[in-house]
Amino acid sequence: MTRFAAPGFTGSLLIRVDHERNNPAWFDEQASKLSARLMRLDGLIPRAEEDGTLSWGSLAEAPPEVELALLGLIDDKPRFVALTDTREDPSHRSFAVNVVLNQLQPAEAATYAVGRGLVDWHSRHRFCARCGRATRAHLSGWARLCDREQGGCGTEHFPRTDPVVIMLAEHGDHVLVGRQHSWPARRFSALAGFLEVGESIEEAVARELNEEAGVVTQAVRYICSQPWPFPSQLMIACIASVASKEIVLDGNELEGALWVDRGEVAAALREDADATFLAPPPFAIAHSLLSRWAEGA
Ligand SMILES: [Zn+2]
Repeated sequence: MTRFAAPGFTGSLLIRVDHERNNPAWFDEQASKLSARLMRLDGLIPRAEEDGTLSWGSLAEAPPEVELALLGLIDDKPRFVALTDTREDPSHRSFAVNVVLNQLQPAEAATYAVGRGLVDWHSRHRFCARCGRATRAHLSGWARLCDREQGGCGTEHFPRTDPVVIMLAEHGDHVLVGRQHSWPARRFSALAGFLEVGESIEEAVARELNEEAGVVTQAVRYICSQPWPFPSQLMIACIASVASKEIVLDGNELEGALWVDRGEVAAALREDADATFLAPPPFAIAHSLLSRWAEGA
């Protein structure tokens, strides 16, 4: 078994206290507490302590004039993040981020995902998408407001989450894994794609599998999900029963694909030297999906 029993980026100890977000007095009260803590980030890169927890400082470490978001409470301590501007590509999981992610306990990585997601979203949404005016942090940092008092149109903007389906085609005792051109040698994983406007999860799974591998989906079952903060996806992991093992690869999307059985998947997850393929990393939901299928899901 891996150290991630649950999908990566889930299991945060954060109590979100969302019913108080529209109460500025509650926000100010939390910010004035000596126990208030600020998530230490270098841009979007987290900092870890030696025990695998996130590094937190006092609110005095926040840059002046920068808005704060109140994530919620952990251990009864208010947890904030400074909404600094960042120029980093939010979809890029840098080497530096990977290094810290491998040090963080799973619940801590999940809390980081919340902070990173808010910092990144605010940084990229300073202006109203409806009228173009500058917006301000709103609802304790969980939204932005195009403020009528500042001449704006009054629209509230909320952080978006982009759903992505990630799936294994299943036929008999085998599932299909594929690899993209840019991946490390021997890495194979589940196929994936964004849901399009006006599409159900089942329809997106069937469309993506057909587009990328030419297989015909007969039934879809949901397995598990995870937030993926690069930059703002919700990964929805499914298994799709397909009509036959015959595949027609889209060479633009995939470099190759393999039908593998439970033994081969288990060997890859164990990182056996003679495994058929190299499994995705433990914090990726494809790892959870393959694990659950190998265990009989
Ligand atoms: Zn506006």
